[in-house]
Parts: sequence; structure tokens; C-alpha cells
Amino acid sequence: MLPGELEKWLVELGEPKYRAQQVFSWLHKQGADDVAQMTNLPQRLKKIIAPHLQFGTVEAAHTSKDGSEKLLIRWADGALVETVILPQNKRLTICLSTQVGCAMGCGFCATGQSGFTRQLSAGEIAEQVRLAERKAGRSATNLVFMGMGEPLANYENTIHSIRILNHPQGRNIGMRQITISTCGLVPQIRHLGQLRLQLVLAVSLHAATDSLRSRLMPINDKYPLTELIPACREYAAITGRRVTLEYALIEGVNDGKGDFAALVQLLRGWPCHLNLIQLNPVEGISYRPASIQKLRTFAQQLSAQNIAVSVRASMGRDVAAACGQLRGRRERHEHHGKA
Ligand code: SAH
Ligand code: SF4
Repeated sequence: MLPGELEKWLVELGEPKYRAQQVFSWLHKQGADDVAQMTNLPQRLKKIIAPHLQFGTVEAAHTSKDGSEKLLIRWADGALVETVILPQNKRLTICLSTQVGCAMGCGFCATGQSGFTRQLSAGEIAEQVRLAERKAGRSATNLVFMGMGEPLANYENTIHSIRILNHPQGRNIGMRQITISTCGLVPQIRHLGQLRLQLVLAVSLHAATDSLRSRLMPINDKYPLTELIPACREYAAITGRRVTLEYALIEGVNDGKGDFAALVQLLRGWPCHLNLIQLNPVEGISYRPASIQKLRTFAQQLSAQNIAVSVRASMGRDVAAACGQLRGRRERHEHHGKA
């Protein structure tokens, strides 16, 4: 709950208004996980709120050679999700999951192979930040909704969690420091634009023609590029912010001359930014990553066409914590707490 919602609930129970802010801060600023820690609350109030608090538990943690860390988090009903901690100098980015599994079935993604189990609540999304910060021993500076699930298919809870995490009485993480990544749900992208938050929108493109994109990402049949790109352009126009497009180079699939030409056509003349990434290999999926050399060449040629492009290195590949590698289940050979 946001402070306003907490206030409404507590006032109905006969509590004074100001308690809402205290409870919210204990949970979302101090990161308390037990009413016993909430020392300025009366016993009566602790009894009221205790049964409503739900926390996750870190079931396993894997640290990568590059310093990133993957947490396997268990919820009250036994469901598992993964959250990734990405330290980069002064920055601490946390990669959040929004669903248990994902219904979108993208052909290159481990989460997509597992199917959809359920939505995460706003509380469960925010809770991942608390657990990750505690593990990291410091506060998050950036959040990316790039873990398991499609955030815009859990729209209300995702936005609610963002409002909680952004709240000045809580984590107070700036909207500009938060990125939502989507496979391209057009109505939700348009709705998000209307909210005029300062969020970074990232759209998983991966192909510049409908035939190829539909082959890689089934959602493209529902929202083809002729609808997706105008929705992205509208988002950029309304919010005044560049839209990021993600493109994982897959050897022999989307890395050819024709793919390049179609990409230039699609991206030219509007405020977007292309993030080129090397496909992360996923067990059981036959798509192979294009070479780093290919990535560099692609980037240079796009730059030469005046398209803003960056090559992003994935962290956490060695512990299957990189983009698209999250499965949210216990591995057969698990090492608890260590890399
Ligand atoms: N469902 C959202 C966010 C989670 S996926 C989305 O699809 O955007 C986060 C990012 O990882 C997306 O850009 C997704 O396309 C990408 N991704 C999925 N599988 C990947 C893989 N095997 N290698 C590299 N990136 C991958
Ligand atoms: Fe779902 Fe995103 Fe994976 Fe596609 S890439 S299956 S939308 S998590």
C-alpha cells in the first residue's frame, strides 16, 4: 500500500492518520521485516498490521565473477522468482521480476519456456528491492524491470510498485532511474505514455520485419511493427524521453545485411536509442549468439547512419543471471550462498 491507502485503512480501524507514514517508512525506508522493529508503534497497532505483512525469503544466491549476484526468492505460496543485483561502481542496479514465469513465449528466452504461473503483487515486486539491498549491503540507485515476466502484462501491480519505490517517504528512487522493459504491448505503452511519468521505456525489438519478429516473438502477431513503432514514437513525443530498443544479435537469424537495412528504416528520424546485446545462450534453445566482432560492426554501421546505438555487455552470464536466462526454479546442482 501507498501511504494514502495505508492511511485510509488505518483510519477506518480507528488509528490516527500519522501512523500511516510511520508504518510506510518502517517497511519501505528502514526495511523492517518484523513489527518488533517498529519501536514507535503501540502494541495495539503492531497486532493489527502483523498478520498483513508478507515477506519473501532468499532461497539461494549465486555470485558471478563480474560481481553481479542472482537471488532465488521464495514467496509464501512456494512460488519462486529471480532478482539480480548489478553493481557498477557507484551504481547499484536491481533487476526485478514482475511475474512467476511469462506467457509471451519468446523463442530465445528461458523464462518464456517455462510458461506463466501467476502475477506478482505490488508488494512482492517492492520486496525484491528490500531483499536485494540487504544482500548487497547498500541502497539501489537504479531499477530495471527486466527480470522474469512481462511488466506491462501485470500493469496495475507494476505501476503500483513503482509508485511505492519512488515515494519520498520510502525508497525514493527517481522515476528517471527506473526502466520498464516490454515485449511490446501497444495499449499499455500508450496508457503509460499518458501517465507522463519520467520512466525509461525499453522495448524488446530483436527483429525489424514482421515475419522475423513474429517468428521470434509471438506477441508480434497481435501488435505488429506498424502499431508498435508508432506507439513508441508517441511515447517519446509525449514524455520527451528517448525510447530504448533492445536488439539481441542472433547468429544467422537477425544479423544480416537485410536485417540491418530494415533496422535503419525503422529507427531513422525519431528519438530512440538502440541497445545492441549479444544473445545470451540458454540451455535447450538452439539460437546462438553472434560474435562480438559482428556486434561492433553492426554498431559502427548504425552509428554511421546517425542512429544512437550502444553495445551492452550482459553481466552474470556465468551464473545464468543475464537477460533472458532467468528460469525461477531450483537448479539440479545448487550451491547455496556461493558462486
Ligand atoms: N518481458 C520483458 C522484460 C523481461 S526480459 C521484455 O521482454 O522486454 C528482459 C530483456 O531480455 C528483454 O529485452 C528480452 O528480450 C531480453 N532477452 C530475453 N532472452 C534473451 C536472451 N536469451 N539473450 C539476450 N536477451 C534476452
Ligand atoms: Fe516474457 Fe520478456 Fe522472456 Fe518474452 S523476453 S518470454 S516477454 S520475459
